[in-house]
Amino acid sequence: MTSAGGLDRIRNFSIIAHIDHGKSTLADRLLELTGTVPSRSMRAQFLDSMDLERERGITIKLKPIRMTYRGFDLNLIDTPGHVDFSYEVSRSLAAVEGVVLLVDATQGVEAQTLANLYQAVELNLVVIPVLNKIDLPNAEPERVRRELANVLGVKPETILAASAKTGQGVAPILDRIVADIPAPSGSLTQPARALIFDSTFDEYRGVITSVRVVDGQFKPGQAVTFSATYETTKILEVGHYGIELTADAVLSAGAIGYLVTGLKDIQAAHVGDTVTDAVRPGLALPGYRALKPMVFASIFPQSGDDFAKLRQGIMKLKLNDAALSYEPEQSPALGFGFRCGFLGLLHLEVVEERLSRESGLAVVTTVPSVAYRIIQTDGQTVTIASPLDLPDSSRIQTVLEPWMTVGVVTPSRYTGAVMAAFQDRRGRYRTTEYLNADRCVLHYEMPLASLIVDFHDTLKSVTQGYASLNYDFADYRPTQVVRLDIRLADEPIDALARIIYQPDAYATARHSVDQLKDLLPRQQFEVKVQALIGGQVIAASRIPPLRKDVTAKLSGGDVTRKRKLLEKQKRGKRRLRSVGRVELPARAYLSLLGRPQNR
Ligand code: GDP
Ligand code: MG
Repeated sequence: MTSAGGLDRIRNFSIIAHIDHGKSTLADRLLELTGTVPSRSMRAQFLDSMDLERERGITIKLKPIRMTYRGFDLNLIDTPGHVDFSYEVSRSLAAVEGVVLLVDATQGVEAQTLANLYQAVELNLVVIPVLNKIDLPNAEPERVRRELANVLGVKPETILAASAKTGQGVAPILDRIVADIPAPSGSLTQPARALIFDSTFDEYRGVITSVRVVDGQFKPGQAVTFSATYETTKILEVGHYGIELTADAVLSAGAIGYLVTGLKDIQAAHVGDTVTDAVRPGLALPGYRALKPMVFASIFPQSGDDFAKLRQGIMKLKLNDAALSYEPEQSPALGFGFRCGFLGLLHLEVVEERLSRESGLAVVTTVPSVAYRIIQTDGQTVTIASPLDLPDSSRIQTVLEPWMTVGVVTPSRYTGAVMAAFQDRRGRYRTTEYLNADRCVLHYEMPLASLIVDFHDTLKSVTQGYASLNYDFADYRPTQVVRLDIRLADEPIDALARIIYQPDAYATARHSVDQLKDLLPRQQFEVKVQALIGGQVIAASRIPPLRKDVTAKLSGGDVTRKRKLLEKQKRGKRRLRSVGRVELPARAYLSLLGRPQNR
């Protein structure tokens, strides 16, 4: 069904919430109630279609779907809640006029609730606040209602209450969407233009872009251009997101839908770009804040033959993951791979897992690092994303590292523990804000390097899971760092090199060596594990060999056979040594990041 001409019959909205507060479940109920998905085909978290999403129970990708309710077209974009994926949220929000803000009534306002809310307010979106999970016996709807009313500056009684699980109170949410969220503005007669908020690649039909049409109309056969790349193509198909892609005759101003472009170059249609009529082009729309990856790591195929497959896989991911950056890299130990930039560690893990699932690739990932800015003695400033690029200390005047503003929402009784965790990681206190008598937001600043180590886990453990975290880039500040090199069996292992905070150098080196000792499988020979700074060993350990005399079982007799076996064993040793690859479990790289204990 199309909404030919009737902009006033369209409502575009997103559901925003802290992770696990019930967005995807509420989306399920809305799909059911509007008859979009027949009850018999309903499964929990219907819109989380990626295997990875279903297994982890998290939403990674934004997902649009159209419903009809009382003669209105309701376009919903489901969004992820985790802070690493907040760019997915910002893209969804640029395509809608309003949001349903969901808050778990057993928890209350959390860090991501606030972060998402601020984004919505900045875009002047209408906010419909809803308490969720009121079916649970431990729900505290009145307390959370007051908390939310406080944050939003609205009357408590205007806040809806629902259970996304049982469906109680869900119909009134649909009514509020229709009543409160404005119809999209836009002109049917202006030149056709649309904002690309997502895109995917189809082997047969090329790039398929998810768009919010701002003006005019798009039809099959129409010639269109992409404002940033000047790429031109003829549209193969237009349509909207039902349970599946549903073709329409036209996609008009105000609508959310898709364009099948036939483009084979996955770089041609950027997320955030404007697609417009080629003959009568409209002005480019404001895109999104350019995304700056903050965490870097290199990805190599486990088998050198898979490099082409890895390149293809990364390019594919990049198409619908605007935040991922990559450039080719070569390492003596690991061969050809890519230096990649991520928004955070969860993002890195998701990319790794998607490469393995969607491209069938086994990869090795190096120790993640943040980007450093180096002011050199010759006055030049360089940004480095790899420890191997850190210039010699004689050429460095100042090193700058990224700092973040960090907000932690916590029950007040854990404030002391949270503050200690910050202090332990070079955090600087700013302010405390009270949400109510016993919940507050602690505002801090902290180096990103401390944040990516294990801050989130620590925070969860010192608050018994009650605290939530949000962060945002602040600025670059001076720091003191050195490169920590690792040698295994006398071979330098590039992939394990890291840039570390100098005052912590000895503790970090000791910790790394101990961890590697625990992590590495024993080899047929003794393996020396050494940590070095500036060529000097500052911590070392030994992994004893596997004592396996393969000839032991051959009693006396066959001397030739015995010699052959011994030869073979020697060759084996040589091979392992010469490749310099003491088999490193891929996860070793990530685990190495852990902090020295007792600090
Ligand atoms: P999302 O991360 O915001 O998308 O949250 P989900 O929709 O995946 O929900 C997280 C968990 O909370 C799931 O186990 C849901 O079954 C559960 N849940 C969601 N809404 C409700 C509700 O209203 N009542 C109860 N009891 N559980 C709910
Ligand atoms: Mg979800």
